[in-house]
Amino acid sequence: MERIVVTDVVAEARRALGERLLILAHHYQRDEIVEAADYRGDSLELSRRAAASDARWIVFCGVHFMAETAAVLAKEGQRVLIPREDAGCFLAHSIDYPSLMELWRVLSDVMDPDEEVIPVAYVNTTADVKAFVGEKGGACCTSSSAETVLRWAFSRRPRVLFVPDQYLGRNTARRLGIPEEEIVVWDPRFPDLDRERFARARLILWRGTCNVHVRFLPEDVRRVRRERPEAKVIVHPECRPEVVELADEVGSTSYIIKTVTTSPPGSVWAVGTEERLVSRLAKENPEVEVFSLAEVPPFCSYMSLTRPEDLGAILGGLLSGEERNVVEVPPEIREPARLSLERMLEITSK
Ligand code: SF4
Repeated sequence: MERIVVTDVVAEARRALGERLLILAHHYQRDEIVEAADYRGDSLELSRRAAASDARWIVFCGVHFMAETAAVLAKEGQRVLIPREDAGCFLAHSIDYPSLMELWRVLSDVMDPDEEVIPVAYVNTTADVKAFVGEKGGACCTSSSAETVLRWAFSRRPRVLFVPDQYLGRNTARRLGIPEEEIVVWDPRFPDLDRERFARARLILWRGTCNVHVRFLPEDVRRVRRERPEAKVIVHPECRPEVVELADEVGSTSYIIKTVTTSPPGSVWAVGTEERLVSRLAKENPEVEVFSLAEVPPFCSYMSLTRPEDLGAILGGLLSGEERNVVEVPPEIREPARLSLERMLEITSK
């Protein structure tokens, strides 16, 4: 019954608001939300959609940092609304502006960070972290552009600070051939600087992880190899390096979707990423077999917060002239944050 009501509200909002309304949904959202959206995508695809749209209201069904990124890139007069304001992200919560300032201060004991270090932030960060990166001359990256952006960063300064996903950082560093002894990890909970190691580090990683992707273990890959030797293993680069090393393929959400959906009929895939995406891939591609790499498939609890009735409440508000849960970024944060995102778009468009 509830689902019928929400579907009605979506239809009514589309009728009444027409092109002034754009509904976006991340791949990890519930099926009912994805079905109600104009577009589904990963965080960058959705931000690009938002930036290219002239809609007055962009309803972003995802987690907060994604809606914030859309708000940073939004045009004058556009409003970004999020159905659940409490939809956070374990990874994005691992870092903030003050803790970055503290690291910068600590680093100045063994180097001149403003001259020697360039920061690179994964897009899974809040706007204030993107603003820090923008102010210090750095750029954002996505899981698919991390390698390109890191190469760009090393072409500008001898050292790179990569935040906040240590595994994406390390997996990318391995692809670039950066030796282990030139990589250090900064743990903000135990801010103890190993002066000697940091002094010779080329890559400084932040000790952040995604609680979903960290759940995949090397034992999972070994079990699949044993039980389903015909299966190929494909994982997201937020997974542990030990898992990435054992996998057949590694890539962003878009890469995983493209690889699985274009594989020959009869292919078998064990997928190491969020479960809603994995089960949707299985449902929508019956000619291939798709299952989770983990025995207990991990869901993102923040992504799961958005229920159809939350979307219905936002749309119902718009129909009655009320803008609920508007995501706003103050101009002093928005401008440098936009700079770090625009640099990423420029680097990756070459
Ligand atoms: S899957 Fe991981 S990175 Fe993505 S929103 Fe959830 S916690 Fe954050």
